Amino acid sequence: MTKQVKPVLQAKILLVEDDEDDYIITRSHLEDLTSFDSHLTWVTNSLEGLQKLTEGNFDVCLLDYQLGAETGLSLLKQAVDSGISTPIIMLTGQPDKQLDLQALEYGAADFLVKSELSEARFARAIRYALSRREFELERLNRLRLEADNRSKDRFLAHLSHELRTPLSSILGYTELLLESDHTEDARPELNIILNNGKHLLSLLNDILDLSRITANKLELRPEPTSLRHLMLDIYTLLKVTAIDNGLELTVNSLTPLPRLITVDGTRLRQVLINLIYNAIKFTDAGSITVDLWMQQDAAKEMLMFRITDTGVGIPQRQLKDIFAPFTQIEDYLTRKKGGAGLGLAISSELIQRMGGSIDVVSEEGKGSVFTFSLDPGDITDTQRKPLSLEPSLNNIGGAHNKLALTGEVLIVDDLADLRKLSAHWIQATGASVDFAENGAEAIAKVKHKIASGSYYDLILMDLHMPDIDGREATVAIRQTGYQYPVVALTAAMAKGIRQQLTALGFNDVLSKPITKNQLYRALRCYLTGNSALTDNAALTDTSAADSLPLHFLVVEDDTEAAQLMQILLESLGVKTTLAHSAEECMRELALLHRFDRILLDLGLPDSDGLQLIERIEHNYPDNIVIVVSGHEHDVAASGSAIVQQSLLKPITKQALNRLVLTCR
Ligand code: ADP
Repeated sequence: MTKQVKPVLQAKILLVEDDEDDYIITRSHLEDLTSFDSHLTWVTNSLEGLQKLTEGNFDVCLLDYQLGAETGLSLLKQAVDSGISTPIIMLTGQPDKQLDLQALEYGAADFLVKSELSEARFARAIRYALSRREFELERLNRLRLEADNRSKDRFLAHLSHELRTPLSSILGYTELLLESDHTEDARPELNIILNNGKHLLSLLNDILDLSRITANKLELRPEPTSLRHLMLDIYTLLKVTAIDNGLELTVNSLTPLPRLITVDGTRLRQVLINLIYNAIKFTDAGSITVDLWMQQDAAKEMLMFRITDTGVGIPQRQLKDIFAPFTQIEDYLTRKKGGAGLGLAISSELIQRMGGSIDVVSEEGKGSVFTFSLDPGDITDTQRKPLSLEPSLNNIGGAHNKLALTGEVLIVDDLADLRKLSAHWIQATGASVDFAENGAEAIAKVKHKIASGSYYDLILMDLHMPDIDGREATVAIRQTGYQYPVVALTAAMAKGIRQQLTALGFNDVLSKPITKNQLYRALRCYLTGNSALTDNAALTDTSAADSLPLHFLVVEDDTEAAQLMQILLESLGVKTTLAHSAEECMRELALLHRFDRILLDLGLPDSDGLQLIERIEHNYPDNIVIVVSGHEHDVAASGSAIVQQSLLKPITKQALNRLVLTCR
């Protein structure tokens, strides 16, 4: 059996001693110590001693109490005061309790009486000092790391703000150009800029999330959340993308679901959008189904989500790695799809933090099924209902009565029943209708209108009609000079159809069989003069311009970002005043005292944003502030009652529209 050899401790020792005899004695004691491999440096006065200690190369310092005219205590004090962390052992000639206590009080690691020095005592003192040094080094390292992390966090927050601000301008101005009539020729290029900008933004978000996860800084904020609203929001957002890709998206509840759950709604939304968007991205044909149900687990009742697609699927051998960061399946089918391979890693981390877990089953060529669970919080007193994503009829009726639509809609369809049904719904809103049974009749009616100096506010055009079909008819109608919206109705939704139809002169396309809600959304969008039903903004982009004009104050130092916000707000019917600094903001408030909302960017050149909020709260407490930030700002952290919410850059027209709607 081999004998266990105890590791020999390395110790670099500094001796500050003015007496040569004492140096020789100390050296021989050290040489006798078998448990240390010591390397001794000898200096004879406090000045040299302090210099050596400042260099920081020693594990232990042995310091004589009597150094000529000085006492070692003053060196000890200077060393400790200047933050030197090397443990110092005081050596005294005689036992002196008072002195020992004083030395310890000044920060000595230990004290030894020269005349009583034994090998064991010496060894113990050095061993103790060494372990104290190790402990001290660890503490310093920890402090340094914490400081590093803090500055890294600050840097990330700053970087994220700095990146989002120019991205806001890129995305916002591109969207505006796309809406303008003068950019027809540049549309493909503008769409490329827009898509790449959006892609950059999602990469930025993913990288920031991942760095927060790695630094253990990702905090969830669970709040009571309406499950129906959350799902409706996601469905509305992704339905358009699904349709554009020729796919069907459905959301079903398999059991009654709690009306309210306690989750971080923003993060749950992020997970669902990632999974459903992936399903759309990796599916060429077929459907995406989202199922929700409640399931009793061992400890708790969990809320379950299942996203099923009929897409390319994932190879078996890659399934186990799919939730690891930077995983992308190297496959000719998927390589062209883009992405950083971070979405699933982030989603699975978020799901775990929501008390659940995620799993995937997939078959190549057939599709994938992602299932995840989450803890819905306390749902004992919550009413349960099957999920319905149709907005309630009362709301719709109410919205329309308020809008009081008065335009005239031409319904072009060869099927009388469908014409009648659409007419019934349209007339219920107050708008009037006219009919055409085929393309030729539609062209003739539009020409007739123009000749009589009037126009249809909207044409609903079925695509599939005998003889002149909807496409030909629309081309011909556009040739007459008709400039108002034409919306296509078709049962054959296919990939790219929206682009094809837009190129022919259609403004939008609705899938058949058309539902009342779909139709009402289009009516709300086009009959109130809003631009295009290209995204779910159409759902909410409604009565913004109908009531008394709102007046917002935008406080933003970046001129381009400020101007963009002004253009967007004014396009929503909001009068907007700009302030580029805290002082300008206070000047505007001094003139008007109250705005309907103050949109405040926190990173101002002349004041800390939070301080500005305090000033506003103190002087003009009737105002409501919306914090606009490049990084997630905790509204509660401002500690101010006038801060109502925060908006994350880049600010979209849709987000502003939501804000505007809540002000009315
Ligand atoms: P990315 O941003 O690259 O899509 P994700 O983490 O969301 O990152 O996904 C990682 C990879 O997993 C994808 O690149 C893709 O290869 C594969 N994947 C994810 N979801 C699906 C799906 N529904 N069908 C097929 N492959 C998928």
